Amino acid sequence: MTSSSLDIAIVGAGPAGLAAALRLHQRGFRPRIYEAVPELKPLGVGIDVKVYGTRELDELGLLQEFRAISVDARESIFYNKYGQEIYAELCGVHMGYLHEQRFVHRGRLQMLLYRTVLERLGADAVVLGVRCTGYAQHDGRVTLDLVDQEGRASQVTADLAVGADGIRSGMRRQMHPGASRPVYSGITMWRGTTLMEPFGSGGTILHIGAPQTSSMIVYPIADDFEGSGKTLVNWVVEATREESDEDWNQLGSVDEILPYYEQCDIVHLDVREMMRNAREVYLFPLIRHDPLDTWTDGRVLLIGDAAHAMYPRGGNGACQAIVDGGALAGQLAAAPDVPTALRAFEEQRLRAVNGIVIAHRGEGYEVIRRMVEERTGGERFTDIEDVLPLAEADAIFSTYHALVGQPRPGHGAGDATGFRTENAHR
Ligand SMILES: Cc1cc2nc3c(=O)[nH]c(=O)nc-3n(C[C@H](O)[C@H](O)[C@H](O)COP(=O)(O)OP(=O)(O)OC[C@H]3O[C@@H](n4cnc5c(N)ncnc54)[C@H](O)[C@@H]3O)c2cc1C
Repeated sequence: MTSSSLDIAIVGAGPAGLAAALRLHQRGFRPRIYEAVPELKPLGVGIDVKVYGTRELDELGLLQEFRAISVDARESIFYNKYGQEIYAELCGVHMGYLHEQRFVHRGRLQMLLYRTVLERLGADAVVLGVRCTGYAQHDGRVTLDLVDQEGRASQVTADLAVGADGIRSGMRRQMHPGASRPVYSGITMWRGTTLMEPFGSGGTILHIGAPQTSSMIVYPIADDFEGSGKTLVNWVVEATREESDEDWNQLGSVDEILPYYEQCDIVHLDVREMMRNAREVYLFPLIRHDPLDTWTDGRVLLIGDAAHAMYPRGGNGACQAIVDGGALAGQLAAAPDVPTALRAFEEQRLRAVNGIVIAHRGEGYEVIRRMVEERTGGERFTDIEDVLPLAEADAIFSTYHALVGQPRPGHGAGDATGFRTENAHR
């Protein structure tokens, strides 16, 4: 399709909407983003950007700037709730992938994408402070209803409207009025950050405890944070709780979760101290959204969390949201018209991403921590090889990495690529 003649309106300036704008611009399109908040602020905590997410940022020409705001992931180590090591694997280029896996503050990544959109597409490419309240289609065009901060209504008309309006997407609700309602899983995440000395190699991600009962993930997201000489560390605890507001900005407290870690003795860090020194703690309940059978309605397309909200585990939500933009731009450039491009986009993405949505409801490779908990009856072990042989764990990891689209390089399922560190036999 010729790019200059196509009006594209994107609703939402999160990672999905911003990355889509940049990808479309690379193909010669001139999209405009309509965002509800009057000012974009670097909100959120950590995101674990997988190798395929880094590849997208590289293809956007942002690798150097992304490296400057993020931390290279070197190795991933798994422990039981006592802090006994059960498995380890290398990450990103250290594992042999062509791209790095990197840890970043969500807000810093969003700001990088936002700045780049303004630089490349111009200051008028992002309209802030306008909320989309609905869409209508007529004569091969889409009209978006917008309302600003003062309640003033307006409309924009485009050839294609892209709904990148996140987990509470109004465009998804309009497109799928009969879709099942989101359901609270009974598990909540406490998401916090702590400014502290680096631990492990400085690029280590720790997975601690049994999933579902008191699981914790810890990783660094910024070195020398704001010139402090210290590392900003992101940690996430999952535990059961009666509460269900799907809002990224709810504040929480560590008092509820500290008792889970009284017996936890990790060689790399004091997790209780880290939690007590938290700068911020947010609550985010795990809410189940059923996969959609279509993301398109005529000339309207959903992308990112609006299309495929998944439990925010392991960074795939953000990475898949970023991938959507490149796929859309490629299909639009190749197809003779918008409906053909949207059909091709769905064919390319829908089945695969819905598979990841479903896989994230389970434990993924984190299942090894539950297996160890069950096989030991929740007790300490003497030799991990008697509880979870390395080859068994390796097969689980190889299968999972292939499922999310980054098969372990040069290894088939069953090949031994994981390892145990010198601390595994403490
Ligand atoms: C405040 C916030 C904090 C987050 N923190 C984390 C985190 O710490 N870790 C993590 O893994 N993920 C976090 N996420 C989610 C993460 O950004 C997404 O899972 C992923 O990056 C996909 O991004 P997205 O662009 O599809 O959705 P989002 O990042 O949710 O972006 C959606 C955007 O659409 C805008 N919007 C919504 N409705 C409308 C409307 N009607 N009209 C116009 N604009 C609208 C929103 O204001 C937002 O800017 C956070 C999201 C938000 C909004």
